[in-house]
Amino acid sequence: MTVEDLHVHTKFSKDSKEEPERYITLAIERDIKYLGFSDHIDLDPTDKDYGYYRYEDALSSYNMLKKKYENNLNLFFATEVTYQKDLEKSIEENISGRPYDYIIGSVHRLEGITFSGAHGIPFFKDKDENYSYNMYFDELYRMVNTDFFQIVGHFDIIKRHGISLYGNFKIEKYREKIKKILATIIEKNMVIEINSSGFRFGLGEQYPTDDIIKMYRDLGGREVTIGSDAHNISNFGAYLEEAIKNTLSIFDFDVIIFKNKKKTKVARLSELITLKNAMEVHND
Ligand SMILES: [Zn+2]
Ligand SMILES: [Zn+2]
Repeated sequence: MTVEDLHVHTKFSKDSKEEPERYITLAIERDIKYLGFSDHIDLDPTDKDYGYYRYEDALSSYNMLKKKYENNLNLFFATEVTYQKDLEKSIEENISGRPYDYIIGSVHRLEGITFSGAHGIPFFKDKDENYSYNMYFDELYRMVNTDFFQIVGHFDIIKRHGISLYGNFKIEKYREKIKKILATIIEKNMVIEINSSGFRFGLGEQYPTDDIIKMYRDLGGREVTIGSDAHNISNFGAYLEEAIKNTLSIFDFDVIIFKNKKKTKVARLSELITLKNAMEVHND
């Protein structure tokens, strides 16, 4: 059982063509009780995805579907905003007054280049690991210090291409920075998401990596959200089970949802999957 998927993209995102209703049908089939549409808002005028998101269309589609399926599952109207430090004013203008249940903050671009997607490799050209990773975590630290977001999206997405270019992601060199970011998240009542798309991209692990989840636990973090970051129904929910099992072997976190930006606990990880199974998988 998965219970929730709070990170999916639909045709209101530039990089997805999927009909939102198709996720709903599958969610009902799979007994996913909480489903959140988190379409991208990209506000950098030099970004090819700039200006694609249509708030009114996304909202009216959501309202229609919510009405149609209100007896079947809980739907959320959300967004994933690409954070860039020089766009804070624009971000504020694009989220304030809108009825988002929650907003996922994500760093996808550095130095004006999208490094996180399938075509992200050029960003890394002539940059060593320290430079790329430090720049990423510095931007993430600025992001969590704003008051725009409830959920921090794919905490260590820099490793998506970083792993193939620099080798396995080891947190040691960035420990202090990561600790500051996590402490801020906890202090500001935000949460990290367990994002299974790392498995889908062949990284062999979720975002964030186990050591970051352990640090989050040690700092007092007790809550997570769960998301597959699907861009079409064929990767909806993909590897969530693996990500949940793996996370449960670190700590039995509360799985939460946000409605009108307010948190509610809907389960514990151990209620989704038994620990015994988790340990078996972990020891493989
Ligand atoms: Zn993202
Ligand atoms: Zn996403």
